[in-house]
Amino acid sequence: MAGSSLNPLLGTSESSSLDSELLLPILPSDDTAVAARHQPRLKGRLYRNWTHNEQLFVRCCGVIISRATFFGSEGISSINSFLKATFPSHYPGSMPSYIFYDNNCQFLKHLRANEDHYWDSVGLPVDVFHFNCKHTVRDNFCQENCNPARFKELIGPDGKWVFNSSAAEQANVWFGKFQSVVQDMPVIRYNFFLDEMIAIRNREIVKELSAQHQSPHLLSEEFLRGTSLTSPII
Ligand SMILES: [Zn+2]
Repeated sequence: MAGSSLNPLLGTSESSSLDSELLLPILPSDDTAVAARHQPRLKGRLYRNWTHNEQLFVRCCGVIISRATFFGSEGISSINSFLKATFPSHYPGSMPSYIFYDNNCQFLKHLRANEDHYWDSVGLPVDVFHFNCKHTVRDNFCQENCNPARFKELIGPDGKWVFNSSAAEQANVWFGKFQSVVQDMPVIRYNFFLDEMIAIRNREIVKELSAQHQSPHLLSEEFLRGTSLTSPII
């Protein structure tokens, strides 16, 4: 949303953890910690869940552009479907330059295993926070393909990250607070409530971006369909 010629303001797709049992502690990035995280853990809970988690797609400016409810698990193939629904093929102009995702290394392996070329033009770095905390340096595939530092366009001349790759993480912290509110809502009210909260938050963020002269805007229908190269501010 915040204007940029790179069109990279594409946040991450991330579990929003409406289920608190999904929240993992921040672990040091050594192999022992990574291995320990993959050990099955028995956990009890004294409440019921109707859904597994909510997925959000968040622009790096903080604006949330799509949401999906996942039932059962945060499967990579489901993530792929969610992303394709967010950036459908009939809107080639919507295709992002980068997608930060905390599990992009597994996502990329999934794409290659299935010879899925939908995201070939998109950079798939892991967001900086998760890359430093949860991805081992011994994973050559991850280091070679998803290390955000390998995407030079993401680093400014001052050596700092150009984009806030933690925007989704920050949105999740906010979104997770609604867990107890929506826990037992019927499906229509559940969706209405969450979408309204997102819309209100988006309006506030756009207002703040405008005040900072960041030029938040919507892309035109023609630009999204690829029939126009110019994207007038709407
Ligand atoms: Zn990785």
